[in-house]
Amino acid sequence: MIHYDILVIGGGPAAITIAKTINGTQRVGIIRPEEHSMIYCAMPYAIEKVLPVEKTFKKDSLVTDTGAVLIRDSVTKIDFDKRQVHTKHGGTYGWGKLVLATGAVPILPPIPGRDLNRVLTFKTEDDLRSLLALCESGTISKAVVVGAGAIGVELAQAFHAVGVETHLVDLAGSILSAMMDRDMVEEAEAALTQEGIRLHLASKVVELRGTDSVEQVLLSDGRTIELGETGECALEEGAKGKRGVVVFAVGMRVDTSLFEGSGLVKGKDGIVVNDRMETNLQNVYALGDCAQFVSGITGQVTPGKLATNAVPMAKVFARNQLGESRSYPGFFNGAATRIGSYFVGGTGLTEKGVPGSMEAVTGHSELTTIFPNMPGAKKVRMKMIAEKGTLRVLGAQFLSGEPVTDKVDVMTLAIQNRLTVTNLAELSYSAQPYQSFFPASNLMVAAAEEILNKVK
Ligand SMILES: Cc1cc2nc3c(=O)[nH]c(=O)nc-3n(C[C@H](O)[C@H](O)[C@H](O)COP(=O)(O)OP(=O)(O)OC[C@H]3O[C@@H](n4cnc5c(N)ncnc54)[C@H](O)[C@@H]3O)c2cc1C
Repeated sequence: MIHYDILVIGGGPAAITIAKTINGTQRVGIIRPEEHSMIYCAMPYAIEKVLPVEKTFKKDSLVTDTGAVLIRDSVTKIDFDKRQVHTKHGGTYGWGKLVLATGAVPILPPIPGRDLNRVLTFKTEDDLRSLLALCESGTISKAVVVGAGAIGVELAQAFHAVGVETHLVDLAGSILSAMMDRDMVEEAEAALTQEGIRLHLASKVVELRGTDSVEQVLLSDGRTIELGETGECALEEGAKGKRGVVVFAVGMRVDTSLFEGSGLVKGKDGIVVNDRMETNLQNVYALGDCAQFVSGITGQVTPGKLATNAVPMAKVFARNQLGESRSYPGFFNGAATRIGSYFVGGTGLTEKGVPGSMEAVTGHSELTTIFPNMPGAKKVRMKMIAEKGTLRVLGAQFLSGEPVTDKVDVMTLAIQNRLTVTNLAELSYSAQPYQSFFPASNLMVAAAEEILNKVK
């Protein structure tokens, strides 16, 4: 048996962050089944042919250069009493500290027809290669992407870009509903439709029909999306007939089967941890997508399966192993995506996501990305959400002709530090014709001022 000071199950961004932060000062073992650790965020762009598949792989040297040992295997059993894990290839490894960083798996809803061929999810290298192979075989006539969150929207655009008729279905009445309010995303939604992507909003996929492969998608309102071609087209793989593919991008769930019977406490969204990433079992930690955590704003359990949450959680754990005393503040969920020529992003709570115990007030602003008289100036809009009584900032959303992540991050910092609308109205900002808003105004200040005008 090989012993590690820190044994990590999982090889995603959480595990890599631990290896990089510990940086050889303790013996770290990382067990990962996949041949490649993936840059998941880039996967839709491989479908779109912006990147070759190989550019979605992370280098193993990210781990091994730190002195950590990468074990290409899968954990099949954990003996928490003996402090040992057992693997598929017969390995046994002991730990001083065990880190569960096993991620989450895509949800495939329990609807009739989910086992048909050409019904897929989108997370692994295999998923990516299967979809690419289908696209490259020229046998896809249509794609139905279920779930219009960032992954679904990016995937739908990728299919459309490679010439596949694309349908995007979502239960919510607007796209990106967890990140954006409807008023901030309508324009981008219209752009998707204009591009030719067919939106089916406020619709649920209730059944998939077909004999071997999926041929028809039944929606909750009784409408159907036909995937098989009729007429002379054969339905055998590789024949001249074309068929469709259905990809579910409706969220992730944590697979806790590995921990059954262990006494490890699990919640509805993953393994329960405290703000130091400790589980209820001694010397056992959980972080990243497999851990359940709370919103940094409401303190309530909230979804937050993002790499930008997994990495800071892993850093808290690793820094504490190095003698620091850090704690994880909770999810703020700053995120962004691109829709055609629009960049959209949000952080904190949406207006519709503000809990009933708080009253929300909102402010909007619209400027140009750089001085309006400069070549290349594009429109940028912002919505700020605050708590009416305290004026504490709760959320922000942006829609722009240029990337918005810098603005999203500034607003996350404000929310994280419990700044108020008054603080933001007083922001001391910079200005330069090629790089910023006009000196006379600033997007965040203007949105804050609108809120102050509303409440005074
Ligand atoms: C298509 C796509 C796009 C995304 N885009 C973004 C984005 O733009 N921004 C963003 O912040 N986030 C994005 N995410 C989410 C982000 O990728 C995840 O939040 C992040 O990967 C979580 O990291 P993790 O290390 O916790 O888990 P994962 O990256 O899921 O890694 C878990 C690891 O555990 C391993 N494992 C599981 N079980 C076992 C076992 N029994 N034995 C050994 N190993 C095991 C897995 O094989 C895997 O290596 C995206 C996700 C997808 C799928």
